[in-house]
Amino acid sequence: MLSYRHGFHAGNHADVLKHLVQLRSLRHLLQKDKAIWYIDTHAGAARYALTDSTALKNAEFESGIGRLWSARDLPEAVADLVGEVRRFNREAEGGGPGGDGRLRRYPGSPQIAAQVLRSQDRIRCFEKHSTEIRILTANLAEFGHRAQAEAGDGFERLASLLPPPSRRGLVMIDPSYEDKRDYGHVREAMRGAMTRFPTGSYLVWYPLVRRREAMLLPGAMRVHGGADWLNVTLTVKAEPESGYGLFGSGVFVVNPPWTLAGELREAMPWLVRTLAQDDNASWMLETPTATAGTANRFTARARPLTAAPRPSPAPGPRPPRSRGRPSATGRQT
Ligand code: SAM
Repeated sequence: MLSYRHGFHAGNHADVLKHLVQLRSLRHLLQKDKAIWYIDTHAGAARYALTDSTALKNAEFESGIGRLWSARDLPEAVADLVGEVRRFNREAEGGGPGGDGRLRRYPGSPQIAAQVLRSQDRIRCFEKHSTEIRILTANLAEFGHRAQAEAGDGFERLASLLPPPSRRGLVMIDPSYEDKRDYGHVREAMRGAMTRFPTGSYLVWYPLVRRREAMLLPGAMRVHGGADWLNVTLTVKAEPESGYGLFGSGVFVVNPPWTLAGELREAMPWLVRTLAQDDNASWMLETPTATAGTANRFTARARPLTAAPRPSPAPGPRPPRSRGRPSATGRQT
């Protein structure tokens, strides 16, 4: 029984990092006419309201996309993501030229892909949660045969789509890790995928939490990911003393676009300053040619928290924040 619902977390700092990397990777693939296949093994519902009780329970979007919404001087890559989120909000309001400019909704990874991909491209999603797959299917219906969702286990089903007919593809692996066996499943899925489609690009999201399996995952990805990879992390606060809870996240990219490292080097200093929740916020970028402390591993601390811009939340009443203990994955249900 799955209990995780992404609606509680939509638009948080982890989504911002993940979707920034997703969008830059798709943009790069879009430079050529040849069709792209975008495969999302853990798709979620694709569209999230930020005004409902689910999103407002902990209002995680306020310290994520909410902080970017009215910020100025955004790096190009961040501006691109915010532009797609604005477009999603605008079109959901009926497609007027600008709507009222309020942040009310957040697009999940399948929606972002559907917004930017072309008629020759294909989107294939897997989702195991019985409610989420129903919502996802309805949300993707307008894209017709271009975007299809299948109920099932994305780890198991991924191999069935590889290699894609066009031999050009981006695979997003974004589990909830509510089951700690997911870490092993990610490794297995990547091993199989790289055998079938070694030239594909893969994005693996992982949480920064005090859990052995999570800490070991990037190392395992280096083994399965072949020669070309990139690992980016965004730490937004100090590790909780309790040992529980998410303090940041990472995206491990196999076969990244050659432009991605440069774009992240430009975006991450701004992003960590903007999303910092305390003075321990930092970012890190590793590539195979620069792994240890010098040219290949870039780390930087954020400026003091007092300098972080204020969030710009959606309007409407908000229930009191939950004081519940976060799960060990940091991804609460
Ligand atoms: N990728 C989405 C996005 O960025 O908008 C968010 C996905 S959410 C973090 C993870 C999703 O995976 C949840 O909706 C959960 O129900 C689903 N899930 C969990 N285990 C799964 C599995 N083995 N196969 C497919 N979906 C699974």
